[in-house]
Amino acid sequence: MKKQFEDLKASELYCPRCKVAQPVRERLLLVLPHSELHEYRCSKCATSVGQREVKAPPSPLKVSR
Ligand SMILES: [Zn+2]
Repeated sequence: MKKQFEDLKASELYCPRCKVAQPVRERLLLVLPHSELHEYRCSKCATSVGQREVKAPPSPLKVSR
């Protein structure tokens, strides 16, 4: 069986401006030290409809109290 969810990301999100779910474009918004912030914009009106934080691979260094 093929995995279809390896690269899971939103392709359609509800756009408050269009009042319907629209295809979205993903763009890199911000690069943080341990993650990247991606932004989804409506492909029709370019309204920001969501964000996704992509975590960097877990560091082998374990921090415990
Ligand atoms: Zn829209």
